[in-house]
Amino acid sequence: MLLATISLNYFKLYYGYYSMGDTDVLAILLSDGHILYGRPFDDSQINRDVSSSPLFMEHLKSSTSGTATFYSAVDHVERIYGYTRLKRYPIVIAAGYNKTQVFSNWKVDSTIYTAIVLTLLLIMSSMGAIVLKQIKINEKNQLDLTKVRDQLTAMNHTLETLALLDGLTGLANRRQFDIFLRETIAQSALSGKRIALIMLDVDMFKKYNDHYGHVEGDKCLQTVSHALSSMPRRKEDLIARYGGEEFVIILMDVTEEGAVAFAERALEAIRHQRIPHELTTLDEKVVTASAGVYLFVGTTPAQAPESVIIRADKALYQAKSKGRNRVEIATE
Ligand code: GH3
Ligand code: MG
Ligand code: MG
Repeated sequence: MLLATISLNYFKLYYGYYSMGDTDVLAILLSDGHILYGRPFDDSQINRDVSSSPLFMEHLKSSTSGTATFYSAVDHVERIYGYTRLKRYPIVIAAGYNKTQVFSNWKVDSTIYTAIVLTLLLIMSSMGAIVLKQIKINEKNQLDLTKVRDQLTAMNHTLETLALLDGLTGLANRRQFDIFLRETIAQSALSGKRIALIMLDVDMFKKYNDHYGHVEGDKCLQTVSHALSSMPRRKEDLIARYGGEEFVIILMDVTEEGAVAFAERALEAIRHQRIPHELTTLDEKVVTASAGVYLFVGTTPAQAPESVIIRADKALYQAKSKGRNRVEIATE
């Protein structure tokens, strides 16, 4: 028979290294349920029989190692145990953590973690809200900018239109005529197509104003303009108010006969309005007009617009001096 002894102090020292709470226990027991060593160390507990504890009665019977929660047979404190029965020796080792302590530690820890997580969530959601708000502000700004741009575009369009139209008659104004004439001359220089420029002037309009007044004079100009703009014509032709009671017509790609015929039709359209004119020296006491026609082809470099206007104006002067209410064509 061989007897080996181990000093209890050895266990005390060895297991003393492990950090455990005051109410946690560590026990080395014999397989029959007698305590060999226990921590916290208490001499009175050595060799105490705890074979009636749930560890021996229940848990070690179903499994040689595991975890379980039960009340200690020594101090009746509920603990969470980890236990194992050694294979080579009749020894059982069990470590129990005070359940109340474990839960209170867990509660403290989880409260801290929860607080941290909640703080982080709060920070993240605040940041998200700020970003979202910024995005909404940006979207609104974008929308406002688009609206302002559209309004500006519409206003520009209106201004452009207003800048190119005559206020009294609604016809193209002198400005539009100048632009159009320059473009037409350039086009004609490229295509070689002929342009007709017709200058048209209401006859004895000063007398009309003197007799009927300026308000009636304005109405007369509106009627004359309407008569001219209602004439059938191609979309590339232009009828404009040159100034006062003078009008200009630009016809593209036209023969001499075609241009004269158009001018004749314009005079007829005005006569056809049968606007009474008591003081006219003409036989028919209605508003009439005279016209001068000039046909030309654009040159390179382009001729000055004034040079073609002067020629049409000369033809108009001839029509006036020949008795008015007629069309004259520039000979040159
Ligand atoms: P002619 O047959 O030689 O063309 O004689 P006229 O009287 O028509 O020519 P004149 O150039 O002497 O007179 C043109 C008149 O047109 C003078 C001016 O009072 C008038 N007039 C010019 N613009 C307007 C306008 O916008 N409204 C009104 N009511 N009259 C205008
Ligand atoms: Mg005139
Ligand atoms: Mg006149």
